Amino acid sequence: MAGGGNAIRGSRIGSGPMGEAERGEAAPRQTVTYHCSQAHRAEITFSTEAAVPESWDCPKCGRPASLDSDNPPPAQRNEPYKTHLAYVKERRSDAEAADILDEAIALLRSRRKSGDVIF
Ligand SMILES: [Zn+2]
Repeated sequence: MAGGGNAIRGSRIGSGPMGEAERGEAAPRQTVTYHCSQAHRAEITFSTEAAVPESWDCPKCGRPASLDSDNPPPAQRNEPYKTHLAYVKERRSDAEAADILDEAIALLRSRRKSGDVIF
């Protein structure tokens, strides 16, 4: 009778770090906090049977993060975490900068032509 209704409880995402409510037969878990060089903290939950990796990519900035809050790993790449959008924006602003430069040169030339008119 009391067999069926208990299927997938306690496995919702984001049930919080204090998962004490989840007891029973579920695989025991551990929450590991990683620290990146930007002082972000990322709490990652692993099964206690899993080997906890020594480093993890920070979900906030993509930099490597380690277990040691006093000694976060340095960012390996110089560039900060870039999204595709950031790349697109960057390229676009390059193009805009080139346009502005062209305009400035054209303006200079036209001023030079007209000689004595200087603002
Ligand atoms: Zn970070």
